[in-house]
Amino acid sequence: MSARIPASLDAFATEKLNALEAKNQRRRLVSSARTDGMAMRVEGGPELISFTDNDYLGLSTHPEVIEAAREATSRFGAGAGASRLVTGNHPLYAALEESLARIKGTEDACVFGSGYLANVGIIPTLVGAGDLIIADELVHTCIHAGMQLSKATVRFFRHSDVAHVRDILQAERASFGRALIVVDGVYSMDGDIAPLKELGALAADYDTWLMNDDAHALGTIGSGRGSAHACDAAHLVPLQMGTLSKAVGSYGGYLAASEPVVDLMRTRARSFIYTTGLPPAAVGAAIKALELIENDAELVARPTRLAQGFAAALNLPRPETPIVPLVIGTESDALAASAALAEQGFKVIAFRPPTVAEGTSRLRFSFSASHRDADVDRLIETCRALGLGGNA
Ligand SMILES: *Cc1c(COP(=O)(O)O)cnc(C)c1O
Repeated sequence: MSARIPASLDAFATEKLNALEAKNQRRRLVSSARTDGMAMRVEGGPELISFTDNDYLGLSTHPEVIEAAREATSRFGAGAGASRLVTGNHPLYAALEESLARIKGTEDACVFGSGYLANVGIIPTLVGAGDLIIADELVHTCIHAGMQLSKATVRFFRHSDVAHVRDILQAERASFGRALIVVDGVYSMDGDIAPLKELGALAADYDTWLMNDDAHALGTIGSGRGSAHACDAAHLVPLQMGTLSKAVGSYGGYLAASEPVVDLMRTRARSFIYTTGLPPAAVGAAIKALELIENDAELVARPTRLAQGFAAALNLPRPETPIVPLVIGTESDALAASAALAEQGFKVIAFRPPTVAEGTSRLRFSFSASHRDADVDRLIETCRALGLGGNA
């Protein structure tokens, strides 16, 4: 007589997992503890130097950033207690939004719970059924989620192919109401920068709004101000979105835009309204980190400089960002190269399909201001000894 949970639930989960396991697509978490600087340990294993995370400036472990988080917690508590429109809008938010707007050169900015939440909130607030989104084929997964939620018609263009965007606009723009072009400012798998100047000019010609996702660009390029500034196109990109979880070293997402656009987000974006405010510690840390980014040009320049030195030593194309892809080819060769680097004390993840195209499995090295010159020198020697590098 007592009601029972249907057995079909666990059966479904188990069957699904088994099918994924058979395709080598089951994922497992390992606990990885950061030790000092870019050093880390995976499940009690030996210490590895990470060339794989997104903490481009080492700010997540910067003493002043940690202290700012501590102080914010002491003053305002461990949690926000409510959504921002209710009582969760602690005083630190205003300072953070002001500093984001200043860095991005926009009238205003609003902070979301994460970059993911920002994209699923911003896009459906701007476009809907009867509108058009034109997106680079390589945009981040959470942009896909935002586009789906919006119910707008989505067209993809070949990666960074401006002529393809023009073709789509010419053929289709007139059939839709509002139109949005969405790109990543920096693409995480190759470290290349979107052609924002060309896209911005095109968008203006077709009454279309350009949005960049600057997750990998804030704090790393354009003197730390991101991809629109690096491309000298800030005046052409009205929607600069990004995250506080990569170079900023904290947590949260944002949109920097004009006052009316930001006010519309605060009024209508569901992922802004119906979720709790960030913990004060995350906001306090981000404020301090942005202050360091604004005032320390050497800090901001270092990861890209390290990446360029590494690439030059291994005959790889010169990177403009802290990201250096080393395409290996097959999945098993890429995994073997990653394992060989781990043997030598380096954590470098192998990216495989579907994250990257078939036959282009790769190591992706990301450089941080916290890497010591000696770490990079030893990485270069190790790659050479393993026969990893370009043949230019
Ligand atoms: C990491 C990332 C996000 C997600 O940001 P979170 O703050 O981690 O949710 C969004 N877009 C891009 C391009 C990213 O790389």
